[in-house]
Amino acid sequence: TWNAVPAGPPDAILGVTEAFKADKDPRKINLGVGAYRDGQGKPYILPSVKKAEEIVQASAPDKEYLPITGLPEFTKNAALLAYGADSAVIKQGAVSITQSISGTGALRIGGEFLARHYPHAKVIYVPVPTWGNHIPLFRDSGLEVRGYRYFNKETVGLDFEGLKADLKAAPEHAIVLLHACAHNPTGIDPTQQQWAEISDIVKEKKLFPFFDMAYQGFASGSTSKDAFAVRHFVAEGHQIALAQSFAKNMGLYGERVGAFSLTTADPAEKARVDSQLKIVIRPLYSNPPLHGARIANAILSNGELYSQWESEVKGMADRIISMREKLYNYLQKDLATPGEWGHIKSQIGMFSYTGLTTPQTKALAEKAHVYMTADGRISMAGLNDSNIEHFAQSVDAAVRD
Ligand code: PMP
Repeated sequence: TWNAVPAGPPDAILGVTEAFKADKDPRKINLGVGAYRDGQGKPYILPSVKKAEEIVQASAPDKEYLPITGLPEFTKNAALLAYGADSAVIKQGAVSITQSISGTGALRIGGEFLARHYPHAKVIYVPVPTWGNHIPLFRDSGLEVRGYRYFNKETVGLDFEGLKADLKAAPEHAIVLLHACAHNPTGIDPTQQQWAEISDIVKEKKLFPFFDMAYQGFASGSTSKDAFAVRHFVAEGHQIALAQSFAKNMGLYGERVGAFSLTTADPAEKARVDSQLKIVIRPLYSNPPLHGARIANAILSNGELYSQWESEVKGMADRIISMREKLYNYLQKDLATPGEWGHIKSQIGMFSYTGLTTPQTKALAEKAHVYMTADGRISMAGLNDSNIEHFAQSVDAAVRD
């Protein structure tokens, strides 16, 4: 029956982990995967998450089905986290929100909803480059995916002129995907001033902004600072779509907890949108899993635990920032590695686009047992005091080769 099924290519990111696992050298380093690692290179369960699990357990929770749109207390608190407690759309009861299977599921619900109900051409512009999964995800939802310029190879920074030109040249009413903070894979975010300009163009061209916020808190260590773009757009009167993930900022990767929301004109419109979100979700997976939403809600709904969580997110962000500083010092100062390495320090969030070429990344894997994606992206969270020197020396050798 399946004779004609061709073998598909391995996933670009998960394939790196497979190669890493097969390497037996004790010096090996995996910088491919986007999961936080502590100072000892170990997966990290946040202490606030452990406490939240105890609270959930102590409440003798049942295993009943959740509603189609998930745990209501959780989605209410997730919306507050993203939009802010003083947000007018929240006060008006105009945010339609559903729990989702983490950020990916939120994006997919958004894609499916837009493909059915967006009243204009179903075209979405994504940054070049973007998180690899955005492209098949929106394509499979039935949207036409196009790119807008984002990365400037020469400066290893934002191609702001290219970005503006491409958004201005997009057809009216096109959907535009924006990474709310900690852009993946480049680690380069617009400044607040640049966000304000982007908002103006989006308004002028009547584009529809779809925010992917997979790293709230992870960029700066402050959840409200990282929500700047989302809140600015909403305050400017845009209606937006928003995908949230609690994978990174709560370390709940495998629990698959996230949310998708749309801001609407009024409670009556919200109620109609709610009803259609349910119609999208019901035949996909019926209703979402319980455990992750309960953990996230235990944190978001408890003042003390919330403060603890915020300081733990800041701790993760700060460790990453200190690794950036160290790596920059090794390359730029101690080893005087050819090239300019300032971007390592100025980039934001878990990832850094190093500027290493595909052959250099190959050489790093083969000669130094250092694994990253072929585009030269590294997860800063994979670096720590025990491996950063080996990494810096290996990069230095690869660049000089
Ligand atoms: N968006 C971006 C930009 C991401 O980097 C990721 C995770 N790598 C996601 C969405 C989705 O992650 P998850 O489904 O695990 O929440």
